[in-house]
Amino acid sequence: MAYIYDDQNIFAKILRGEIPNQTVLETAHTLAFNDIQPQAPIHVLVIPKGPYVCFDHFCLEASEAEIVDFHRAAGEICRQLGVQPGMGGGGYRTISNAGEAAVQDVPHYHLHILAGRKLGPMLMRAPG
Ligand code: 5GP
Repeated sequence: MAYIYDDQNIFAKILRGEIPNQTVLETAHTLAFNDIQPQAPIHVLVIPKGPYVCFDHFCLEASEAEIVDFHRAAGEICRQLGVQPGMGGGGYRTISNAGEAAVQDVPHYHLHILAGRKLGPMLMRAPG
């Protein structure tokens, strides 16, 4: 089964300029902007400009230029935000939700970059 990209998703509309965003960084293949409902003092979403549904779709089908550009952009954002733990920053967390199990809301691949407070354990522990 192949991925089917829904070009009416909210990030596709942001990329087409139909919905405004607070841009943090834009490169040839990548756009990064602030999350509308931040879950930490810093909450940036990094998205490829191409039509990829989720992480594995992007990794398997994007060009090398897109993949390199995306990750360089994400690193550059960490640098600009001053959160790099090896450079005196307080650290950060990257998250990418894919599909139902991870409760992915927007079906356009995106990387969350969260920082600015103690982020706690990676996952809530299951009860019992
Ligand atoms: P997901 O649950 O798919 O991993 O995350 C989707 C993220 O997109 C959420 O953190 C949500 O707050 C954010 N989001 C949803 N709609 C918009 C929007 O219109 N603009 C921005 N900047 N972020 C959005």
